Amino acid sequence: MPQNVPAFTWTDDAVRLRAFVYEFWCEHGVGPNLRDVHEALGMSRRQALQAYKELELGTICVIDTESLNGNLLKCQPFSSFPSQVKAYVDGRFHSFAGCAMESVAYPKMPPFSGKEVRFESFCACCLAPVTTVAKDLDLVSADPHPPLIHVSLSPFEWNNVDITRMCDSMNFVLDADHAERFEAQVGRRGVLFTLDQARGLVRGTADSRMWDAHWGVVPVMPEIIIDFAASLGVDVTAWRA
Ligand SMILES: [Zn+2]
Repeated sequence: MPQNVPAFTWTDDAVRLRAFVYEFWCEHGVGPNLRDVHEALGMSRRQALQAYKELELGTICVIDTESLNGNLLKCQPFSSFPSQVKAYVDGRFHSFAGCAMESVAYPKMPPFSGKEVRFESFCACCLAPVTTVAKDLDLVSADPHPPLIHVSLSPFEWNNVDITRMCDSMNFVLDADHAERFEAQVGRRGVLFTLDQARGLVRGTADSRMWDAHWGVVPVMPEIIIDFAASLGVDVTAWRA
């Protein structure tokens, strides 16, 4: 249960691997395999896998730890598998964003900074299309209107194993009525973020990720996350029940 993991210092291998994965994914739209890592960084299989495990403990990525090849499932803000949000850069499909919340931070990655990034997603309950266009952390436009982000997993359950379920729980909805219908469909209550509140939640990550090569470990601390969301004006009643 990697919550409240005391902050630790990254090894040099973890710092190098993280920087490489970010650069590779921004350039290619997919993550690297072990050969790509070896070719760029000279790391052996064991070195790369140990560094990936460290990055996963620090909630930078998710790998299939049982796989021989360190299958890289996620490296925020990217997802290796088809997620609920598709990102388009320079008018072309680039990659799947990790989730609706990650799509808010995504355009701040240095290679995308200053560009308009379009996100094609959908309302979680009725699958109606939801499109947002953003530049850095600013919303440029939204169709049909700025959506809300429904988060259906309590921070107390974030990262129980890894962050896959957390990201899965962060979805766009058209409005509060659609959120309520989604809650009935999946039998789970949640909380709603406006895009402004979402920006507040991800700002620290967006300002550091890839901008600061030595960005330190940010532990998952449920109480602090809930208090922070409340300070942004989010109604966190469902998380304090
Ligand atoms: Zn809907």
